[in-house]
Amino acid sequence: MTLTRQQPISELLRESNDVMFSVEFMPPRDDAAEQRLWSAAETFKGLGASFVSVTYGAGGSTRERTFRIAQRLAELPLTTLVHLTLVEHSKAELVDIIESYSRAGLSNLLALRGDPPGDPLGEWIKAPEGLEYTSQLIELTKSIPAARHFDIGIAAFPEGHHRAGSLDEDTSVTLEKLRGGAEYAITQVFFDVDHFLRLRDRLAAADPEHGAKPIIPGIMPITSLRSVHRQIELSGATMNPQVGQRLEKAALSGDGAVREEGIRISTEMAERLVAEGVPDLHFMTMNFAKATQEVLHNLGLAPAWG
Ligand SMILES: Cc1cc2nc3c(=O)[nH]c(=O)nc-3n(C[C@H](O)[C@H](O)[C@H](O)COP(=O)(O)OP(=O)(O)OC[C@H]3O[C@@H](n4cnc5c(N)ncnc54)[C@H](O)[C@@H]3O)c2cc1C
Repeated sequence: MTLTRQQPISELLRESNDVMFSVEFMPPRDDAAEQRLWSAAETFKGLGASFVSVTYGAGGSTRERTFRIAQRLAELPLTTLVHLTLVEHSKAELVDIIESYSRAGLSNLLALRGDPPGDPLGEWIKAPEGLEYTSQLIELTKSIPAARHFDIGIAAFPEGHHRAGSLDEDTSVTLEKLRGGAEYAITQVFFDVDHFLRLRDRLAAADPEHGAKPIIPGIMPITSLRSVHRQIELSGATMNPQVGQRLEKAALSGDGAVREEGIRISTEMAERLVAEGVPDLHFMTMNFAKATQEVLHNLGLAPAWG
C-alpha cells in the first residue's frame, strides 16, 4: 500500500490550539498482545489521538515488529512516530533502516541512543562501526537524501539522564540535539510536575531559540505500585513524597484502591500540565487503552470507558 506523506509532528504541535494527546505502543510479544494493541489503536484513533508512537527494542524480531506495527498504524491512518536506537547497529544498518522507514512513508522519527540490552543501567557499549550518541543519529538522518524531510523528535529527562554528570551537562546534551535538527522532545515519565517544569525552564533559559522547542510530557497512568516501582527502578525518576504517601495509604485498602488513587493522581498531574500550556500529553499505554481513556475522560477529552 502506498502511503501519503505523514504530517510532521512538529507541525501538528505548532498548529493546534487545543489540548492534544498522543500514545506510546510497544511491539507486542505474541498474538494475544497484538490483538490488544490493535483494539487499543482503534480506541485511540476514535478518541482523536494526535499521533501514536512505537518503541524500539533490542533484538532482531522485536525490531522487525516495530517496523511492521508502525507501518500498519500509519495505514489506519494514524500519524505514526517510529523510534530508533543505536544499540547493536552499525552506521550502515542505521542507514538501511532509515531508508526503509522512508520507503514505507514513515517520516516521524524519535531518535534515541537506547540502553544496553538486558540491563538498562549497565555499561554502554557502542556497536562495531556504530554511533555513540543520539546527536550523531540526527546528523546521520539529515545526511540521507531519502530522509531529509524527516521530522525528528528526541528524549528528554526531567531529572537529568542517569548517565549525565550534572543537570548542566544534561541540558547541554539535550540542547545539542535540538540545535542539531530535532524539532521537539518527549520526556521520560516523572512523578512530580515540578521536575518537568524545571526542565522546560532550564532549556528555554539556556537557549531561548532551540530550548523553546515543544517539550511533550511522558505520562504513565498509575495503575499499580508495582508499575511505579519498576519505572523508578528503570529510569531513576524520583517519587514526589505526597504522591508516594497517597499511593501507600491507598495500598492499605487493596489494589483496586491504588488504581483508583493512581488514576486520580495521573489526572491531577495532567490537569496541571495542561494549565501550564503543554502542547500534547503523551501517554505510555503498555498497549492498554482503559487507564489512559479514564484519565482522558477525567480531563473532559473522552467519553467514559465501556
Ligand atoms: C520518550 C522516550 C522514549 C524512549 N524510547 C525508547 C525505545 O523505544 N527504545 C529504547 O531502547 N529506549 C528508549 N528510551 C530510553 C533511551 O534510549 C535511554 O534513556 C538512553 O539511555 C538515552 O537515550 P538518549 O537518546 O537521550 O541518548 P543521548 O542523547 O545519546 O545521551 C545519552 C547520554 O550520553 C551522554 N552524551 C550524549 N551526548 C554526549 C556528548 N556529545 N558528549 C559527551 N556525552 C554525551 C550523556 O551522558 C547523556 O546523558 C526512551 C526514552 C524516552 C524518554
